[in-house]
Amino acid sequence: MTERVQIYGTGQEIEVRKIFCLGKNYAAHAREMKSEVPSSPVVFLKPPTAILADRKDIRIPSLSKEAHHEVELVVAISRDGKNIPARDAYDYVLGYAIGLDMTLRDVQNEAKKKGEPWTVAKGFDTSAPVSAVIPRSMIPDPHALTIRCTVNGKVRQESTTQNMIFSIPATIAFLSSLFTLERGDLIFTGTPEGVGPVHAGDEIRAELVGFASITHTVRTTE
Ligand code: MG
Repeated sequence: MTERVQIYGTGQEIEVRKIFCLGKNYAAHAREMKSEVPSSPVVFLKPPTAILADRKDIRIPSLSKEAHHEVELVVAISRDGKNIPARDAYDYVLGYAIGLDMTLRDVQNEAKKKGEPWTVAKGFDTSAPVSAVIPRSMIPDPHALTIRCTVNGKVRQESTTQNMIFSIPATIAFLSSLFTLERGDLIFTGTPEGVGPVHAGDEIRAELVGFASITHTVRTTE
């Protein structure tokens, strides 16, 4: 199965490759998770099959009783690169999207306790809702954006991308020192404070204010 994301205003799509996600990239969120602010980026991966298009249902696996929303700015990579210096990082950015890093918090907490990987908690099908990619030319400063998450019309998360600990150039430099970046890679850049539970029937809306939004209904798997 090939997962694709639209590029806004072009009629084109991009094939999704690796999905990198940053953990604890906003200090206030690290605090609410009772975690230290990291000294280097905390990175995990989701499989491309986790991608979910706008309006499709989020399906929470039955092994979890506590799924959380995490609204995040997503960076889409335009071309292959390795050891990219921070000063050149934006040359590798296709554009930006809004995404949700859906998380099975109870499963993740159990994994943390046992020192086990987060793959199930973070990478299940439908765990990566993402909007169309807004071309980079439309967003001159990706660190001056507002991201917001509402559940059933109530604002749960709202922050500015200025509050990221590791900037987009620093993140691209770091990731590309370890992983070859490819066209179609996505980077979920971490969530601000205000994460919380969602339940079957809830409607989650994630917004890159002024540019893009996605809306999803939460369901459980049968
Ligand atoms: Mg996250």
